[in-house]
Amino acid sequence: MASGPSSGPSSGAGTSSSAGTGSSADTVSTQRTEPECESQEPRGDTESRVAPWGIILPILEGFPSMELVNTEYSFGRDFNCDYTFPKNNSEPQRYKTYSSRHFHIFLNGDPFLQDDSMNGTYMNGKLLSRDDKVVLPNYATIALGEPEHHVLTFCNLMRQDGIKLPEGLRDRYMITKELGTGVFGRVLLAFCVGSLERVAIKMIPKHDLALQEAPTTNVQAEAAILQRLAHPGIIRFLEACDSEEAFFIVLEYAEGGELSQWVKRRKELCEKRSKFVFYQIVLAVHYLNEQGIIHRDLKLQNVLLASMAEEPLVKVTDFGVARIAGDQSVARTLCGTLHYLAPEVLDVGKSKTGYGKAVDCWALGVILFWCLSGCSPFVECPVGTSMAEQIRSRHVAFDAQVWKTISQSARDLVTHLLTVDPSQRCTTQQALEHPWLQDPEMKMKVQQLWED
Ligand code: AMP
Repeated sequence: MASGPSSGPSSGAGTSSSAGTGSSADTVSTQRTEPECESQEPRGDTESRVAPWGIILPILEGFPSMELVNTEYSFGRDFNCDYTFPKNNSEPQRYKTYSSRHFHIFLNGDPFLQDDSMNGTYMNGKLLSRDDKVVLPNYATIALGEPEHHVLTFCNLMRQDGIKLPEGLRDRYMITKELGTGVFGRVLLAFCVGSLERVAIKMIPKHDLALQEAPTTNVQAEAAILQRLAHPGIIRFLEACDSEEAFFIVLEYAEGGELSQWVKRRKELCEKRSKFVFYQIVLAVHYLNEQGIIHRDLKLQNVLLASMAEEPLVKVTDFGVARIAGDQSVARTLCGTLHYLAPEVLDVGKSKTGYGKAVDCWALGVILFWCLSGCSPFVECPVGTSMAEQIRSRHVAFDAQVWKTISQSARDLVTHLLTVDPSQRCTTQQALEHPWLQDPEMKMKVQQLWED
């Protein structure tokens, strides 16, 4: 067999995505184990490789991943199978329900799966009739013995939506699906060849950039800024390159999706969880500002979660409009997202001095308000005060019903961050010293996440 199971994939992964496909591939990550180095192929050894047409990824912990190169693979308990199910000592009875040869996958134009088992194989929750050959769809989940006992998922690498990676990346990454779209491009989920570690590849087509005033500088600035940052609260830059058609930035993959989806799912986050997430965002922004960088587009959508855990590691992302403080272009550009814009950004045309790092602190105030209450402090209404006017006058909609359950201390921090005068606005340092964030247990948990 040209390509055997690698004993356990690497980084965590799983659901994310503004695309919100909810595909089975999303589930994989939460259960993944750390890689075992000996199973990985050396990164440089790509020349003689045959490109795989699919990947089998584990949903259940302990099950290895496997690249599919040959035309047929058998799966079962038997050691003679191409893929042998691992023994689970905590569930010996379950292991007995797996057949020596449970199913096989083969390529006949399309990928197919055929059940060979005693207790049944389920694909996307549906029991397959024994000996029936069924087309295996991209991201199909495979369950053994019961519809809910998901163990594996399948990624079809022949279905890549016409996306072509440039030469520098093509041999080392395999794209599997789209994670989301930004203003100027798409973000794709890809696997590192060999290690099967997941990465996010940001692809910015050059023809879209041609619509911008400074076509390439934003992408180049984003890559340059990301490259100099190293912080657990900031998405890690891996590499960048470009082709005739597009720029590509390879980033660490955050499996938990956007904070905006998290807030939406829970409506509001409860004070304890908000604090856990918000503290990490403040630490990341404090680090950024200390490095002389202003993000300028902090918002719930640009905060990603590293996992699906209840108390996840948080990663600030999207440095597309970030700039070095003191840069002439910083102080004078109207950019960002209206709900999060500081008053001084709205009035940048009238100002002699422009704006600075404090714009990020205003956005932190909006983020905290949103986490605690599940809605924006400034609301668009067809009649009455415009959003820009609400922002300028800090006309904040503290809904009494919602805010009655939130502590005065949390509200106090929101108020200090949403201070109209930037010179009086709470800084990241002051936010970190605010009584609401003095919670040793929460800080210890964050520290542990950072060390893991
Ligand atoms: P952006 O162009 O950076 O705004 O990204 C667009 C969307 O793609 C984001 O809102 C996320 O849903 C998704 N995304 C971006 N970067 C990542 C990443 N590193 N890991 C997971 N999803 C990502």
